[in-house]
Amino acid sequence: MESTDSGVHGRYLQAVGEGGITLRELGARPVTDLNGVGDARARALAAADVNSILDLLGFYPRRYLDRTREATVAGLSVGDEGMVLVRVGTVSSRRTRNRRSLVEARVSDDTGELRLTFFNQPWRADQLKVGMQAVVFGRLDSYQGNLQMTNPVVDLVGDRTGRIVAIYPQSETAGLHSWDVDGIVAEALRRVMKVRGLSDPLPDEVRERYGLVGRSDAYRTIHRPGSLHEMGEARRRLVFDELLRIQLALVQRKVDLERTSVGIAHDVGETALLDGFRSGLGFRMTAAQDRVVGEILADLARPAPMHRLLQGDVGSGKTVVAVATMLAAVQGGHQAAVMVPTEVLAEQHHTTISVLLDSMTVSDPATLLGHRPLKVDLLTGRTSAAERRRIGSQLLAGGVDVLIGTHALIQEGVEFGSLGVVVIDEQHRFGVEQRAALRDKNRDGTAPDVLVMTATPITRTAAMTVYGDLDVSVLDEMPPGRNPIATSWHEDDADVWPVVRGEVEAGRQAYVVCPLIDESATLEVRSAEEAFASLSAGELAGLRVGLLHGRLRREDKEETMGLFRSGGLDVLVATTVIEVGVDVPNATAMVILDAARFGIAQLHQLRGRVGRGDQASRCLLVGEAPTPEAEERLRALVRTTDGFELAEVDLDLRGEGTIMGERQKGRNDLRLASLRRDREWVEAARAEALLMVGEGDGMADHPELADEVSLFLADDESDFLLKS
Ligand code: ADP
Ligand code: MG
Repeated sequence: MESTDSGVHGRYLQAVGEGGITLRELGARPVTDLNGVGDARARALAAADVNSILDLLGFYPRRYLDRTREATVAGLSVGDEGMVLVRVGTVSSRRTRNRRSLVEARVSDDTGELRLTFFNQPWRADQLKVGMQAVVFGRLDSYQGNLQMTNPVVDLVGDRTGRIVAIYPQSETAGLHSWDVDGIVAEALRRVMKVRGLSDPLPDEVRERYGLVGRSDAYRTIHRPGSLHEMGEARRRLVFDELLRIQLALVQRKVDLERTSVGIAHDVGETALLDGFRSGLGFRMTAAQDRVVGEILADLARPAPMHRLLQGDVGSGKTVVAVATMLAAVQGGHQAAVMVPTEVLAEQHHTTISVLLDSMTVSDPATLLGHRPLKVDLLTGRTSAAERRRIGSQLLAGGVDVLIGTHALIQEGVEFGSLGVVVIDEQHRFGVEQRAALRDKNRDGTAPDVLVMTATPITRTAAMTVYGDLDVSVLDEMPPGRNPIATSWHEDDADVWPVVRGEVEAGRQAYVVCPLIDESATLEVRSAEEAFASLSAGELAGLRVGLLHGRLRREDKEETMGLFRSGGLDVLVATTVIEVGVDVPNATAMVILDAARFGIAQLHQLRGRVGRGDQASRCLLVGEAPTPEAEERLRALVRTTDGFELAEVDLDLRGEGTIMGERQKGRNDLRLASLRRDREWVEAARAEALLMVGEGDGMADHPELADEVSLFLADDESDFLLKS
């Protein structure tokens, strides 16, 4: 709705219609509509991405000062942390002997005097002006008989009174101070509330269910809380709104997909193949595998196509689940495809799956016996033209039951007779378009059921957000009898090589992963070559050492991998090309050089390359940690092998920014909500979004919420969400 300008109210927000002001209306109002915002201030605000009144209300305080906790200088004891309101006396700046900048300020209140010292903050000399009032927070020391605080937090609060003072992000260069923002926000709130308040599109029952405050209250008190408790209530409401918008977008997309595509209702009642498969396994499925297979079969039976993400740590047994899924489709006369990101992985899957399905038969009325062996084929970029033609015609005629391959599967001309199930392994290497392309592989336009598998552990709430258009199943249990991988961290590599030699003497094999070099693949290859040369001539002299990196010719790569697999090499020096899918059970040591350069997930994946046989395995992380975060990453790897626990640590260390991706900035960001701190709110928002989209006329029953989703999450943004 457009509000029109007219008469005495001029440019002001004004009452149009019955309800309160919508966020879209606020988004259409520039900040210059507010009294006291001229060109200079508008420019300063624009530098902070605040252009509309909506932006302004969403420019939340960075933190709050609780003035009720203010002390006096005399009332503080040495060694205590405290907050005091002081007036700035003198300010001086100089350099210390070791060339650090040092700013000193003498400040005082009615009860005493205090020295503030700031190291490496030369700008303090300009910030602190004689006579200014400041709220200072820090630990009180005594130095040469004087009371002082070193590098305290300083807030210039102007003459703001009140118990809780909001501190806004400030920019010295743009000349935007916290108290300026405070004044402008106050003016905006006054205008908005005076006219008709904010419209609240959240149904009352949802508000009541979670005890959420109304939207007007939320925006008012996030900026001017009467107490920290009140601020918390406001935050809860605004966090819920942010998460709900994201979930509505994702759930809507999921529902649209289901509505617009015709799937296959598999008959899962007949289970001869599945039963045969189970009893032929040398082990019993874990409870988690059973549960997930159950979830998948329920999806397969429904006419809407399945879009399910299967998460399971390296070694949790995803392949068995995938094969069970495919058999359910093959049982009903359909076909199954497995798409993986690399040729190495495709070949490996082909071998494993062929073994698992060996000697199974499917009914085929065209044959003499009425059945024939279940047929598994492999299609990659290397498949010969003749073989490709054979597979092509058999695929259409239904003579191939399971086809395993790379991107080659989604090329033009590959067409199935009746593709029932698609399994996509290692999801993070494929985009949404590629998933979509596989979905279109049936002549009759029916969409196959899709199971996406990933071994990159991600927290449940992150999965709900990033893969929100998929249902999620989790294999949260390892098959019994696994040898945990002992992980250690060595700042110096000297004590690592004897361990490697020890493993080799015991008849085992080892990987040495070379440092990751972000800037250049060429440098990375060079560093691998150097490590290979120096290790084979030095620390690992006498052992059979091979080199593997992405720039080698395919035949050479193959030969080296083959040699290592068959035990013809003791040690494989490699770049991260071995990260995905290499499976050599006799390899029991994984050395990762300069480990601090890798992220948690990558280290965990690399570590998963060992511990695949029945021997105890080790992972040795090498190198110094250049930052406290790097140290925490390495310590986490040493502490646990649980991928989900590591995912939590990762989220703690990196924040959600990295999960939502780089581009998700500006006003579409999750501003207040944190996937880490607000876990239960992610779940609540998802549950409510499912209800709202799934019931009645779906989003049509919630037009204002639907409009907010498009206001905050432009189409390309939600597309992007799904591609990370
Ligand atoms: P993922 O793909 O999840 O990393 P895999 O499917 O490759 O794991 O399984 C890893 C290994 O564990 C394989 O050798 C597989 O045969 C074995 N395995 C799978 N499920 C079980 C189970 N329930 N009990 C014992 N071993 C299992
Ligand atoms: Mg696997």
